[in-house]
Amino acid sequence: MTFDAVVVGAGFAGMYMLHCLRQMGLSARVYETGDGVGGTWYWNRYPGARCDVESMQYSYSFSQELDQEWTWSEKYAPQPEILSYANHVADRFDLRKDIRFNTKVTSAVFDESAGEWQVETSQGDQVRAQFCIMAVGCLSAANRPPFDGIDDFNGPVYHTGEWPHEGVDLTGKRVAVIGTGSSAIQSIPIIAKQASSLTVFQRTANYTVPAWNAKLDDEYVASIKADYPGLRAKARARPTGFYFPFNTNSALAATPEEREAQYEESWQRGGLPFLGAYGDLLFDKEANDTIAEFARRKIRETVNDPVTAELLSPDNVFGCKRLCVDTGYYAVYNEPHVTLVDVSKTPVERLTENGVVVDGKTYEADVVVCATGFAAMTGSFDRMHIVGRDGLTLKEKWAAGPGTYLGLSTAGFPNLFMVTGPGSPSVLANMVQSIEQHVDWMADCIAHIRKVGAQTIEPTPESEKEWVEHVNEVAAISLRSTCSSWYVGANIPGKPRVFMPYIGGFPIYVNRCNDVLTNHFEGFVTDVKDESNEIPEVRFTDRWRVPLDLEVISPAAIAAKKVPVV
Ligand SMILES: Cc1cc2nc3c(=O)[nH]c(=O)nc-3n(C[C@H](O)[C@H](O)[C@H](O)COP(=O)(O)OP(=O)(O)OC[C@H]3O[C@@H](n4cnc5c(N)ncnc54)[C@H](O)[C@@H]3O)c2cc1C
Repeated sequence: MTFDAVVVGAGFAGMYMLHCLRQMGLSARVYETGDGVGGTWYWNRYPGARCDVESMQYSYSFSQELDQEWTWSEKYAPQPEILSYANHVADRFDLRKDIRFNTKVTSAVFDESAGEWQVETSQGDQVRAQFCIMAVGCLSAANRPPFDGIDDFNGPVYHTGEWPHEGVDLTGKRVAVIGTGSSAIQSIPIIAKQASSLTVFQRTANYTVPAWNAKLDDEYVASIKADYPGLRAKARARPTGFYFPFNTNSALAATPEEREAQYEESWQRGGLPFLGAYGDLLFDKEANDTIAEFARRKIRETVNDPVTAELLSPDNVFGCKRLCVDTGYYAVYNEPHVTLVDVSKTPVERLTENGVVVDGKTYEADVVVCATGFAAMTGSFDRMHIVGRDGLTLKEKWAAGPGTYLGLSTAGFPNLFMVTGPGSPSVLANMVQSIEQHVDWMADCIAHIRKVGAQTIEPTPESEKEWVEHVNEVAAISLRSTCSSWYVGANIPGKPRVFMPYIGGFPIYVNRCNDVLTNHFEGFVTDVKDESNEIPEVRFTDRWRVPLDLEVISPAAIAAKKVPVV
């Protein structure tokens, strides 16, 4: 069978891509490993899973009707509600009929003579398509560390990112949680309520800020819905792709008393916007030290046992690793049945039939929960056989780190697009916005290629090199690039260390994508040259032409290369 496009993945990215391809009158087939839509929200069903960008903003913006008819119940919606939303979108836009569930794409090989992709799946499908769109997700390849003795363990071992659909009753169980990243921080307070004992194995302490999650009141929802496009526009103008109060002043210009008041106010607002307390927190180590110390003090004030409080206190740059957002995380360590084990110097040795062994000591458990995260950004690509021109595999091409042009495409792999690929703002921004902007750009690009009668489009190696250099140059300005995090692949042994997301801020990135498109796909080559010299149509991308929020991204800040990213 031949389609105009094959889309891999049916999370928010794959679903919206399918919707756009349909609107363009193209034939498309979507393949999805899971047996339902929703991606992240289909797989991550661990207790306490919820978004940490406010729901009113962590949602599609392409349909005003959808915005009006869907009502979020909480400031940060729980996973089941986000999954219901994904299902609602699939039904409302009649997406399912073009999606093949329970079907993993195993290989995608570019046929140079036909200028098409040949795609094969775990179910034996063999299809061809001019365009192949990887909507495989940045955080979709679960990282299951190969602990010795894992098969000897008497009880179940779960990964938070592949949590059983029927749920897990942990009542009265002795539970071991390995990892203290975002999923652990969300789930631990809830697991602690059920478990008879809970042992948490921590390699690196993480900063987390209280969510202060709450039911959304009708008046607030109505006020947003009265001008939803207004909120979306304000969000797009922000480096993060979501809107919240941001103070551009320098932390170091304030007196200690002023800083204290500012941090306290921001803490009380909670969540990721805490990093918006000052404009220089991610650029100036001295400024960052002030917020880091404030956060550490909060830990000491909350956790009764000074040794545990010390262990929970990160000593790295605040916000360097993905900031976590929690409900009752630190306080849980005051519970007598909760124990924190430091595995920074003596890692988990092995599992035995009875539990987890560290430094020769067995911590008994009935259930092990691996909250060990994902092979971020490139993991799902690595798990497929993707072959471009001249038989080059993507894995070979990316062996020293992922190279892309704009995070949308990579040289030597014509007509292969990636939604929120490495080198785009992706995980540093509100991802639903990042996804929509990428999909809209791809839709206009595909329409243009077909209009001018070309078969292929791909970036030149030079434009890719220049973009990768720019991504690295901007990353080096931010303190974010200074620590071992999954942004640089540090959680996966052997993975090359490259700062993968684009840190220059969402609107600056969007402007660049817009310019590339209107400049006749500058940096790309097509097999048939467009002689018309007409500016390509911007049917989908037009809605991304928004001015920068000059309150936050002032020209002076840009000139000083100090674009405040959160
Ligand atoms: C617990 C958690 C909380 C998060 N919270 C937020 C948040 O608050 N704000 C935010 O902006 N982002 C958040 N994210 C990031 C989140 O991943 C994105 O917001 C968004 O859901 C990604 O959508 P996607 O469609 O790009 O990818 P995904 O949702 O990851 O979907 C990709 C899909 O591709 C499928 N797939 C992969 N490989 C193949 C293959 N070879 N064949 C077939 N199918 C394949 C996968 O099964 C998956 O269903 C969170 C992530 C996690 C894990």
